[in-house]
Amino acid sequence: MNSSHQKILPGATVGVLGSGQLGRMFAIAARQMGYRVHTFSPETDTPTGQVSDVEIKASYEDLDAVKKFARAVSVVTFEFENVPSAAVEAASEYVPVRPGGAVLHITQHRLREKTFLAHHGFPVPAFRPVHRAEDLRSALKELGYPAVLKTAGFGYDGKGQTKITSPDQTETLLPNIGQQERILEVFVDFDREVSVIGARGLDGTFAHWGVIQNSHQNHILDLSVAPADVPPPVEREAIEITHGVLEQLNVVGVLCVEFFLTREGKLLINELAPRPHNSGHLTFDACITSQFEQQLRVVCGLPLGSTELLRPAAMANLLGDLWENGDPIWSAMCGFPEVKLHLYGKLSPKSGRKMGHLTALAATPQRASKRVLEARSSLKSE
Ligand code: AMP
Repeated sequence: MNSSHQKILPGATVGVLGSGQLGRMFAIAARQMGYRVHTFSPETDTPTGQVSDVEIKASYEDLDAVKKFARAVSVVTFEFENVPSAAVEAASEYVPVRPGGAVLHITQHRLREKTFLAHHGFPVPAFRPVHRAEDLRSALKELGYPAVLKTAGFGYDGKGQTKITSPDQTETLLPNIGQQERILEVFVDFDREVSVIGARGLDGTFAHWGVIQNSHQNHILDLSVAPADVPPPVEREAIEITHGVLEQLNVVGVLCVEFFLTREGKLLINELAPRPHNSGHLTFDACITSQFEQQLRVVCGLPLGSTELLRPAAMANLLGDLWENGDPIWSAMCGFPEVKLHLYGKLSPKSGRKMGHLTALAATPQRASKRVLEARSSLKSE
């Protein structure tokens, strides 16, 4: 019997490649439902490892270790998209890996991702590949200023990005072009940023958590609010596009589509994340089925759970900067009874590092945002 169609039921063991906060929340959801969790990454005492049954420390390049890990579990998933494809292939010799390696291959490279999306008719900001210095000059001639230059691989939270605003600035960048593949995009003067997280089961069923509104600080997600304040046609279109992307990529898993909403009301895809996403952390407390439980259901071949939002919600990230003057004032934050604290167990609070988040539930999205921001402010020690 083809194991890829068997349901993997509570009591079984699921494997996670990667060991950050996304894996941690996945592991919490899995353990709540009685699964065992094994995690694999090059570190120990990790956010995921701390709440897993077994934490394996090995390099993703150590394919023998990856195979040994895969043999001990019923299915493998990953919690970040930069897992080398050789590791995914090695694991898939033994058990299903969901989502599959093809989804990873496309989404771990901005140029492949944007090319795939444009080729399938999805709306993306105008972009050009940049391999050599001449490419950057001609791309800027075509796209104009301002524009954003991004490394094609291994970028997140604005890492590897430069906004180019003038020919003088271009000249200073040229000597460094050619060392790695890049993509140049027009700078989108957006009205707001929104995301839709979708899930697609083994049988092709689709579920989503509606449109979530996001604000960033220094390119890092700061605040997410659900439901987003967008007109119904924009909401329908964002969900339709997300469904289309999951279908075209043949995703079996959870995938987030991040959008820019322009001042003219047009949606453009900024990027895809083939996994639960920071903007969906509020689903943990605010929805019948969180994005993490849904990922578990999908990778185990179970029916999808209801994504119904129980109350409007807002999520605020807690970055390492909050620890600048010592420990945050947890006792003050606990005075907000409608706010939930999530800490990821990270050992060193560096500036910009995501250490945890807060989620507030309230009668309206505006009220939830206000409360979550007040709760976060209460944590700051002067
Ligand atoms: P990314 O790492 O590509 O998700 O970018 C992080 C953030 O940088 C986005 O959420 C935007 O706020 C901003 N950004 C990225 N690309 C663009 C663009 N082409 N135009 C305007 N802002 C951008």
